[in-house]
Amino acid sequence: MNSDHSNALFQRATRCTPGGVNSPVRAWKAVGAAPRFIASAYQAYVQDEDGNRYIDYVGAFGPAILGHAEPRVVSAVADQARSGFSYGAPTRLEVELAELICAVVPIAQKLRLQASGTEAGMTALRIARAATGRRMIVKFDGCYHGHSDSLLVRAGSGAMTLGVPDSPGVPPELAQLTLVATYNDYASVERCFDQHPGEIAAIIVEPVAANMGVVKPRGNFLQQLSALAHRNGALLICDEVITGFRLRFGAAYELYGAEPDLIMLGKIIGGGNPIGAVAGRAELMDLLAPAGAVYQAGTLSGSPLSVRAGLETLKILAADGTYERLEAAGAYLESGFLSALTASGVVGCVNRVGSLLTLFLGVGEVGNAVQAQRADRERFARFFRAMLKRGIFLPPSQFEALFISLAHRREDLQRTVEAAMESLLESGSI
Ligand SMILES: *Cc1c(COP(=O)(O)O)cnc(C)c1O
Repeated sequence: MNSDHSNALFQRATRCTPGGVNSPVRAWKAVGAAPRFIASAYQAYVQDEDGNRYIDYVGAFGPAILGHAEPRVVSAVADQARSGFSYGAPTRLEVELAELICAVVPIAQKLRLQASGTEAGMTALRIARAATGRRMIVKFDGCYHGHSDSLLVRAGSGAMTLGVPDSPGVPPELAQLTLVATYNDYASVERCFDQHPGEIAAIIVEPVAANMGVVKPRGNFLQQLSALAHRNGALLICDEVITGFRLRFGAAYELYGAEPDLIMLGKIIGGGNPIGAVAGRAELMDLLAPAGAVYQAGTLSGSPLSVRAGLETLKILAADGTYERLEAAGAYLESGFLSALTASGVVGCVNRVGSLLTLFLGVGEVGNAVQAQRADRERFARFFRAMLKRGIFLPPSQFEALFISLAHRREDLQRTVEAAMESLLESGSI
């Protein structure tokens, strides 16, 4: 497999961009390879600058639930582009997207569109702090909520992959306001409230963690968090940037009996274009300017191109049987990977919810970030490279989820399982 063009581009990129990429995980550092530069993508495939085609499980890190370049979404965006990109004035499209989301997410009485999930996290915290008059927040080790200062503490995703648990440049005074609890460990959250009575504005959580690899909430963990927050006058923020419209048509918190006050959305609702959103109870949302005094703004907030792509994507997802198909594809891959583990004698486990899946190598069970960190990253790196060679494009870190799309056909999944079988065997030898 030739990668001359990618390698040459990466060299040029490192001269003009820090680390050669515009988001850290894309550099493939954790898997000991130089990144492939992607020239195009369609359906379940990406194609690199050297003309190699891969079955894609990065899925743009979440948005590409329909697969790439879905024709209806492409023509909606092209149509929108002919009417101008952005106006600095409200549009009908924004009303339609807000109405659609508010109709299917019970706690979303109002919604504010933004340009990224990071902004949604910043804004949700600002609302929570303003509403409660408190300063502290509780987040979970290994959960990622974007790269804003308050939330970049023991974050998952690239921060975990690169071993940058606490970024330089985040003032300690601010980081101190962020308490870190252990996912799936209710007692660790209770301790935060015991130690800081009356000071915690909100708990923020991914209802299904997907940035330390996929980790499911156990038992009634999310229900307990809701009750604890509310008993103590704090808010619960569910970060649904990945899980929203990924696990069902709407928010995932309902699957687990959580009662958030605010949710964050992003990724899928922009149909592959930049987007983020905060939604929640009307009296909280109305704290935002110009209804209230909490300031938040954005030149490209609710960009017509993003909103049009998102609306079209959601229309397609709303069809009957969509989530059943995603579940079936996920289940197929899970059982194939499990068989491959057994057949190869490699220790590992598969964590999966619907079309989100992580194959952890070297560990038998992962329920939190400490357990995730015990995974065998070296073996994962070898596995990743062996899969790449066989035309399978995995997320380049042990701590990212595979994203399955509606475009993945049975034969794509079959080829992936066959490749996994061979790659696991190969990953044992160096
Ligand atoms: C991707 C992600 C974000 C941040 O969204 P961006 O659009 O990358 O800023 C926030 N929360 C979760 C759970 C995410 O996966």
